[in-house]
Amino acid sequence: MDYKEHIAIVENWPKEGIQFKDITPLMDNGKAFKSAVDDIVDYAQDKEIELVVGPEARGFIVGCPVSYALEIGFAPVRKEGKLPRETIKVDYGLEYGNDVLAIHKDAIKPGQRVLIIDDLLATGGTIEATIELVEQLGGVVAGCAFLIELTYLDGRKKLDGYDVCTLMQY
Ligand code: 5GP
Repeated sequence: MDYKEHIAIVENWPKEGIQFKDITPLMDNGKAFKSAVDDIVDYAQDKEIELVVGPEARGFIVGCPVSYALEIGFAPVRKEGKLPRETIKVDYGLEYGNDVLAIHKDAIKPGQRVLIIDDLLATGGTIEATIELVEQLGGVVAGCAFLIELTYLDGRKKLDGYDVCTLMQY
């Protein structure tokens, strides 16, 4: 399926010079959304995945239906201060300044095989921070899946040695 048909390109959003890839038309099309989720489920199938981890907020949108289909759990990674129980945190760099991502300390069991899912791979900062959280808790990153990869930002270089699947490339 040509998923790009269902991605809206928004110029100069959220700020001047950024070309935002909006996935909401894909989510709005039941057949396309299901097919994209199914493609990630197929990718995960032979990897003995035991848990899906996704960063807020669009990582939840793509990650939760995958965990449902695989009949395994989903653990959220959130911005600092959003998770109610004990967390571990990691600082990560943004274009300007930095941010903090967190995960519940008991979200992952040592040795558990994890699939990390987000909607889009840009510079790779978010996935790098998410991998760090998973590995600090003893999880094994068995795969990383995204709907979209912005190849011109070269986020893949942060994923050297990891198994990566992207459904669309720009
Ligand atoms: P990175 O950390 O790889 O630079 O950025 C990826 C993160 O930012 C993802 O969590 C993603 O949701 C968000 N993001 C950055 N640019 C875009 C975009 O153009 N479209 C969408 N849908 N998300 C984006």
